[in-house]
Amino acid sequence: MKDLIIIGGGPAGLTAGLYAARAKMDVVLLERMAPGGQVLSTDWIENYPGFPEGISGVELMDRIRRQVEEFDLKISMEEVVALDISDDKKVVETTKSRMGCKALIIACGSRPRKVGIEGEDLLIGRGVSYCATCDGAFFRDQEVAVIGGGDSALEEAIYLTRFVRKAFLIHRRDQFRAVTILQERVKENPKIEPLLSHIPLKIVGTDRVEAIELKDLKEDRVYRKAVQGVFVFIGTIPNTELVKGMLELDAQGFIITDQDMQTSIPGVFAAGDIRSKSLRQISTAVGDGATAAFAAQRYLES
Ligand code: NAP
Repeated sequence: MKDLIIIGGGPAGLTAGLYAARAKMDVVLLERMAPGGQVLSTDWIENYPGFPEGISGVELMDRIRRQVEEFDLKISMEEVVALDISDDKKVVETTKSRMGCKALIIACGSRPRKVGIEGEDLLIGRGVSYCATCDGAFFRDQEVAVIGGGDSALEEAIYLTRFVRKAFLIHRRDQFRAVTILQERVKENPKIEPLLSHIPLKIVGTDRVEAIELKDLKEDRVYRKAVQGVFVFIGTIPNTELVKGMLELDAQGFIITDQDMQTSIPGVFAAGDIRSKSLRQISTAVGDGATAAFAAQRYLES
């Protein structure tokens, strides 16, 4: 039986792994794909301390991965399919194995929220995207819609202007939620046209995105805007399917913890974007990971 299993290889899980391995705990980190998490789809990060010129998501995760390797953290590529956390001994079942542990850190992160309108599912990968870094270059000299008004939508709209001729930034309210610096950059960017108080109703197209149908709330009119791509950035959904009904979650489905990352079950900790908290950043995920590993160690000692 392991001392500790960490599920998820984003910044929170890898940092927990770094601390646990450095503390010589018997630990394994499980990750269904390559370690990195959502950061890998972030082009450029300029608010992670220590990198005054900024750093790409890929480079940052590569550095964290190299750092955990220095401490011999065991990383196993397997997807967790079921958990039994009702007992002191927790059981983790994966696609490859079944293993027991005394403590568990859940750092499974979150995934993009869909806007839930007609045409969205049909046209995913055919003009509808949730990742500008992955797909932006396919829209060179084209016109796209970007849906959302938070940091992600504004940041990704700015990134997309490296490729696109025009990005229509569609937000349901008359004010963006994003931080001021991003709002200022959007204002200064001639390739971005904000469409405030606009609700997306439908993505139009059969084989490819051809247009987006919008409702202008101020003018109270519905119209179509011809675009070749639709990028959706309206927040994230926590990957909590594994623990639904087992752990206390908040109204949005994020795992509730105390300040030590302890969930409603002793010995089970949560860290990073999957946790109920006010600020989801790489820097806060890293802090969660360190705290969770430290708390897990104290739990094991007690
Ligand atoms: P977010 O801050 O939750 O913003 C989501 C946006 O989508 C909001 O503007 C919201 O509108 C809109 N929205 C939600 N549901 C919608 C729907 N059904 N239809 C249309 N619009 C909808 O999400 P996020 O931008 O992905 O950011 C998530 C977290 O990551 C935040 O904590 C953010 O600060 C952080 N983040 C930080 C950075 C950075 O520091 N550089 C970059 C990216 C993300 P309302 O405003 O009307 O609610």
